[in-house]
Amino acid sequence: MSSESPSFIPLSIPYLAGNEAKYLQECVATNWVSSVGPFVDRFEKTLAAELLTPYAVATVNGTAALHIALLIAGVKPGEEVLVSDMTFIASVNAVRYAGAEPVFVDIEPTYLQMDVGLVANFLDNQCLTKNGQVFNRVTGRRIAAIVPVDVLGHPVDMDALLEVARRYQLPVIEDAAESLGARYKNRPCGGLADIGCLSFNGNKTFTAGGGGMILTHREDWGKHARHLVTQAKSDVAEYIHDEVGYNYRLTNIQAAVGCAQLENKHSYIEKKRHIAARYQAAFAGRAGLRLLGESTDAFSSFWLSTVLVEPTKFGLTCRELRQKLRESKIESRPLWQPIHLNTPYRDCQRLGGHLAEQAYAHALSLPSSVGLSEPDQDRVIAAVLTAGA
Ligand SMILES: *Cc1c(COP(=O)(O)O)cnc(C)c1O
Repeated sequence: MSSESPSFIPLSIPYLAGNEAKYLQECVATNWVSSVGPFVDRFEKTLAAELLTPYAVATVNGTAALHIALLIAGVKPGEEVLVSDMTFIASVNAVRYAGAEPVFVDIEPTYLQMDVGLVANFLDNQCLTKNGQVFNRVTGRRIAAIVPVDVLGHPVDMDALLEVARRYQLPVIEDAAESLGARYKNRPCGGLADIGCLSFNGNKTFTAGGGGMILTHREDWGKHARHLVTQAKSDVAEYIHDEVGYNYRLTNIQAAVGCAQLENKHSYIEKKRHIAARYQAAFAGRAGLRLLGESTDAFSSFWLSTVLVEPTKFGLTCRELRQKLRESKIESRPLWQPIHLNTPYRDCQRLGGHLAEQAYAHALSLPSSVGLSEPDQDRVIAAVLTAGA
């Protein structure tokens, strides 16, 4: 191959063009490199203020944030948690870490978010209420929480979900790992429900190398989260522990990167939305291709711009398209296999039809890095359009 062969275009990589290096230097210079430090405090305070949730606790990753969120919400072993079937496995693994069982909820077909109607129908018609608690009629287990996921950075229909949850006094934990910077009815995602969980993994819009955050409106839950992520140490000098805790803290080094990233929050989201708008315009006239958009209530973070490919009209399946793009050195990715099809979760209860499976069959996420150049995006667009021709 000549040196002019086109470069590889990744799906979603970090964009480190602000104060990241400067703040990392500061960590070294000040010796604050471990699990406490000024950047951890700043990272928490910044997000608490931006998401309008007074309590924020940084964690080592988003999965740990979800685990702790379930514990502070009162989820106990042997109970059940309603969770989106179309999500990254972490949302569901956290339920099992808490010793609970997931009940999967199918998606709506337009934005691929948890179908709130299925949740309402389940609680209204397939559960019974005893002493203010809700029990699954089939399994007899208590329903302990609901975990909606803002899939691909688009909010779930949270007001409808909260209305149902409030009726049954169920805590709602928003998995906002993909939706930091997004809004729902002009309210910030991550702060929409009782608890919000964020991720700062390398493929997310904002990275800290790795990291997570628990956000809540409740002081007691905020305090409990802090306690659990620091090994439930109730006396710092004597090392006295009153429950089983975890070593889930974020380091100051990671928080330093996270703080630098958040300084550019607005421009990162603008860039993600610009990428989505360009794909949308380019594919608008093409039969068999539909870019996932946003509802009138939503301001999406467009974490990954994603197309639905209808093979009979487009001429290729989404996996054939993926192969063609790979030949052009362009990375793309189908959505996650619906969780109920994964080995550890095959026997779990599932609400609804098979829309998550259909989305899995037809959806393909395209390069969406904050640093994606317009010429590179044009290369992706041309490759998609010619592949199906
Ligand atoms: C990335 C992600 C997580 C997990 O975050 P990590 O920081 O990788 O542990 C959880 N839920 C969803 C929906 C995600 O996309």
